[in-house]
Amino acid sequence: MATSSTTTASLAFPKPLLPSSSHATTSNLFFQLRKQKYQNHHRSKSEMKAQVRKEDVVIVGAGIAGLATAVSLHRLGVKSLVLEQADSLRTGGTSLTLFKNGWRVLDAIGIAHYLRPHFLEIQGMVVKSEDGRELRSFTFKQEDQSQEVRAVERRVLLETLAAQLPHDVIQFSSKLARIESNPDGETLLELADGSKLLAKILIGCDGIRSPIAKWMGFSKANYVGHCAFRGLASYSEGQPYEPRVNYIYGRGVRAGYVPVSPTKVYWFICFNSSSPGPKITDPSVLKKEAKELVKNWPSELLDIVDATADETVSKTPLVDRWLWPAVSPPASAGKVVVVGDAWHPMTPNLGQGACCALEDAVVLAKKLAGAIKSNEDHSSVEEALRSYGSERWPRVFPLTVRAYFVGSILQWENPLVCSVRNNIVIPKLVRLGPLLEHTNFTPESL
Ligand SMILES: Cc1cc2nc3c(=O)[nH]c(=O)nc-3n(C[C@H](O)[C@H](O)[C@H](O)COP(=O)(O)OP(=O)(O)OC[C@H]3O[C@@H](n4cnc5c(N)ncnc54)[C@H](O)[C@@H]3O)c2cc1C
Repeated sequence: MATSSTTTASLAFPKPLLPSSSHATTSNLFFQLRKQKYQNHHRSKSEMKAQVRKEDVVIVGAGIAGLATAVSLHRLGVKSLVLEQADSLRTGGTSLTLFKNGWRVLDAIGIAHYLRPHFLEIQGMVVKSEDGRELRSFTFKQEDQSQEVRAVERRVLLETLAAQLPHDVIQFSSKLARIESNPDGETLLELADGSKLLAKILIGCDGIRSPIAKWMGFSKANYVGHCAFRGLASYSEGQPYEPRVNYIYGRGVRAGYVPVSPTKVYWFICFNSSSPGPKITDPSVLKKEAKELVKNWPSELLDIVDATADETVSKTPLVDRWLWPAVSPPASAGKVVVVGDAWHPMTPNLGQGACCALEDAVVLAKKLAGAIKSNEDHSSVEEALRSYGSERWPRVFPLTVRAYFVGSILQWENPLVCSVRNNIVIPKLVRLGPLLEHTNFTPESL
């Protein structure tokens, strides 16, 4: 495929900066340079709007899906441009628990070895009721020797992915504002600053409110009736908790915490709410509301919330999108495709949203790079994108549905039903092995 270029045919070339006259005085030269700089500045702003830059592969969104796709393509020798609306990588936020499928992808794209030394391997999980009574505990390796569970800080994951890319791949402050397809099957993208790009292949990794998914006809992600407070507690002297996931189940409220590293502990509190409610950004209000929900619960949870850095606390309404066959559009249309949350937002009840975004990235990159290298033909690229969609759909649709039902059961409010859950289902019936079968995914090597 051709390398990227910029169409400038309609534009005048900038005048030479230095005067041709040999008798220009120093002060003349100074004023000419200043004038030229001023003209260039203004020209570049207005000309930028008229220029249409051509790119082969454009990825929108520098989240986990976007960066993992760009890195996978880069490893396979395919250059891409990543457009990110923010002015830098997302540095706030908490952590994500990645299971063995996520780690296998990170191995395949060659970054797991940078991450493992920083994040504790989680040995198992313990489930308690709101009065602190232990209902059940599990050890991951007892159920499955190959299981690997670690919570990684999102910031570190994003920075590690970005560090694998040449410096000019990610373009920040580049919010996609408008999309249009042209008769050649390319996609015209207009950014919020008025600049335009023509993309031969467009990969939408733009998250749950994806403008690309909307343009492709996907419905809005659906609010599932509960919200989550999250935070990352910091302990400069070292955190005191064992490396296991701790879940506490109440009525209509559940919480959990997991050590991330020797100094950090991730926590969440999930609660039922008929609507997402107002957006709250004040960390002290967020912490107060979160603590209010669990005020009589085991005290370590309240201590962990208190030890949380303000910039990491957030409240998120949980959403998903069910990709019903024949109702939901396919993952690709021509040479436009969606990846990660842009395609299949799912509730976090199985800890699989980011893991699946990573899986998508390697599957797509492998197919797309194969098509690009083997054939310049448009149809082979389109076929590669279709093949990605049909391979991934049976993986992500059932997981989305399962995550929803797991969440609904865990958010039960009825005291009788909760008592059956806590006294019969969890202690006697639940088996961890089948519950984590969905983590059995091994990507092809890149
Ligand atoms: C409470 C909670 C807990 C979770 N816990 C886990 C977990 O433990 N394990 C797990 O695997 N998953 C978990 N997830 C899911 C995980 O966070 C997501 O699946 C994952 O972040 C999806 O990554 P993404 O790259 O697809 O989207 P995002 O991370 O949302 O990235 C999208 C990017 O696109 C950019 N963008 C958006 N619009 C535009 C535009 N118009 N122009 C340019 N750029 C744009 C955004 O700025 C952003 O950088 C959790 C989710 C929630 C809500």
